Amino acid sequence: VDIALYEAKARGKGGVVYIEGSEREAAATQVRLREQIAQPDLSQFRIVYQPVVDLATRQVRGVEALLRWQHPELGNVPPDEFIPMAEHGGSIQRLGWWVLESVCRQVAAWSRQVPRHRLAVGVNVSIRQLDEPDFAVRVLDLIDEHGLERDQIILEITEQSLARDFENAVEVVAQLRAGGVSVAVDDYGTGYSSLQYLDRFAADVVKIDRSFVSNLVANEHTQKIVSSVLDMARALDLQSIAEGIETPEQLDVVLRLGCELGQGYLFSRPVGAEAIGELLGAGPLAEPTSAASVSVA
Ligand code: C2E
Ligand code: MG
Ligand code: MG
Ligand code: MG
Repeated sequence: VDIALYEAKARGKGGVVYIEGSEREAAATQVRLREQIAQPDLSQFRIVYQPVVDLATRQVRGVEALLRWQHPELGNVPPDEFIPMAEHGGSIQRLGWWVLESVCRQVAAWSRQVPRHRLAVGVNVSIRQLDEPDFAVRVLDLIDEHGLERDQIILEITEQSLARDFENAVEVVAQLRAGGVSVAVDDYGTGYSSLQYLDRFAADVVKIDRSFVSNLVANEHTQKIVSSVLDMARALDLQSIAEGIETPEQLDVVLRLGCELGQGYLFSRPVGAEAIGELLGAGPLAEPTSAASVSVA
C-alpha cells in the first residue's frame, strides 16, 4: 500500500499524484533537516542583527541577534522551522552557546570600533537552554570574559514557551537578573499573558508581538489592548519594545500610545555585523518624525 497516496486520498485532496509527490518530498526534507540540525555544521550558520530604535528620535539603542541557517542545498531555512527541530533533537544548547559566544565577541568588537556607543543586544534563548546546570553562572562568566557590561546582554524568552517550564524559568531568570543580566519577555500577547506570570517572572523588557502591531492601524480594539499593556509595562518599570513596525502609520500609533522603543522593516531589516558597525558611526535611521506625532496622547 502506498501510504502517502492513501493519506492524500483520505484527506480528500484533489490532484492526488502531485500532492503525493510534494508531500513526500516535504516530509523527506523535514527528516533530513532534523538529522542535520541534531549535529549542526556551525559553518552553515551566521548571525544577523536588527536595530532597535528609540521611536521618537530614531537613534539606534540596541540590536537583536537573529540566527540564520544557510543550508548548502536548500538555501535559507527560517529559525521558526529549525529552532523547534533543534529543541527536539537535543542540539539547541550547543547552538545556543555558539550564538551567545558569537554575540559577545561581536559586541566587544563594536565597542572597540565605536567606543562611545554602549550597545544593548537582545539574544533569543530557548527555554530548554535554561535547563542546563549552571546556565546563569555560565552566561555571567561569558559576558565577563568578553569585557562587556552585564546589562548589555538582554536574554529574550518567548511568552509562549514560559508555560512549558515556568518554575525553572522563574528561578534561572532570578539568578541572571541578580547577576545584572537583563531579561525580556518576547512575543508578548501570544501566550497566556497571565498577570500572575508577570508578577512572578520579573523581567526588564516586554516585547509586544508583531501581530498586535500589524493590527493597530485598522483596529481600535487592538489599540486599547496595546495601550493597556504599555500602561502595565510602565507601572512595572519595564521597557517596552514594539516588534515588526513596517509602516509610518503603525509608527504613529505606537508612538501615540507611548511606546518607547521599536524594531521593524520600517527602520531596518536584520543585517550583517559590518552594516551595524557602520550604522553606529552614523546618525539616526531616516528622518525623525515630526514633533506632532511624538506627543503622547
Ligand atoms: P523573534 O525573537 O520574535 O524575532 C523577531 C522576528 O521578526 C525575526 O524573524 C525578524 O526578522 C522578524 N521581523 C522583524 N521586523 C519585522 C517586520 O517589520 N516585519 C516582519 N514581517 N518581520 C519582522 P526571524 O529572524 O525569522 O526569527 C524568528 C524567530 O526565531 C525569532 O522571533 C525567535 O523566536 C527565533 N530565533 C531567532 N534566532 C534565534 C536564536 O538564536 N535562538 C533561539 N532560541 N531562537 C531564535
Ligand atoms: Mg526575539
Ligand atoms: Mg518577538
Ligand atoms: Mg517571534
